Amino acid sequence: MVATETARPRAVHPTYDGPPDGYDGACAICGREGHFERDRLSISESFRCPGCQGALRYQGQARGILRAVSRHGARSVAELAAQPGFGGLDIFEPGTLGPFRPLLRPVPGYVQSFFDPATPTGEVRDGLRCENLMDLTFADASFDLVITSDIFEHVRHPTRGFAEVFRVLRPGGWHVFTIPGRWPLRRRTVARVDVSGPGDVHWLPAVFHNHDHLVYNDFGRDLLDLLDGVGFVTETMLFASASPTTSAQVTFASMRPEDPPEPEPVPTGVEVGAEPVGAEPSRPRRRNRR
Ligand SMILES: [Zn+2]
Repeated sequence: MVATETARPRAVHPTYDGPPDGYDGACAICGREGHFERDRLSISESFRCPGCQGALRYQGQARGILRAVSRHGARSVAELAAQPGFGGLDIFEPGTLGPFRPLLRPVPGYVQSFFDPATPTGEVRDGLRCENLMDLTFADASFDLVITSDIFEHVRHPTRGFAEVFRVLRPGGWHVFTIPGRWPLRRRTVARVDVSGPGDVHWLPAVFHNHDHLVYNDFGRDLLDLLDGVGFVTETMLFASASPTTSAQVTFASMRPEDPPEPEPVPTGVEVGAEPVGAEPSRPRRRNRR
């Protein structure tokens, strides 16, 4: 890393002291009914569930997960995780934070990971695998669901990261994710760091989340083009509630499409209703292979 040894403040969430802003509803994470109140300046970190403390960005993501993998009308991730059949899914959730983990850990195919550049990828420590999103150690088509919460802004080469998620998803599998920013995002992504060389060169003042996670990109709506290019079909889901403030919260639900059906084998030599193609007597067969 180059230059800018700036202070790395802890994530602090200044309080919101504007007019009351909230909604009554059910938590999409734990299922508890309650009042969800804006209490912080940051919208995505507000509207926390009185039960599980899941903030708006996780509430939106939970709805995205339900949209992606709920088959029987589950209204919370807790309910979903208890459904028969859900236990058969393979789920990858990089990182160690957030309210989904206690609910998903009992699922046998649930995998969490950490990233430490000094640890070989694939190595397991305290039950967690070291994984680099740009170079995952999983086999192709290993997962039905990948969940990332405000992680991809920290991936040095996000296209590589999204392509890796695509690779390890099964056809029909989903990547449900959040990144910072309110909808509509800026038009174009702002790269904060020059990553063209081996080391990071800061174009903009370094920003860190959770102490030491450098932000490489402030994503814009052109992220959708990037996802298209990788092969995903992506829905942007805005958070509907009685508080209009929440509608700027966006969750991305990207599906790896089912593989196209194998094309019907084209018969060689004979075309129906036409002269046999291989019948011209003047065309010699290749003879170099017997
Ligand atoms: Zn909750």
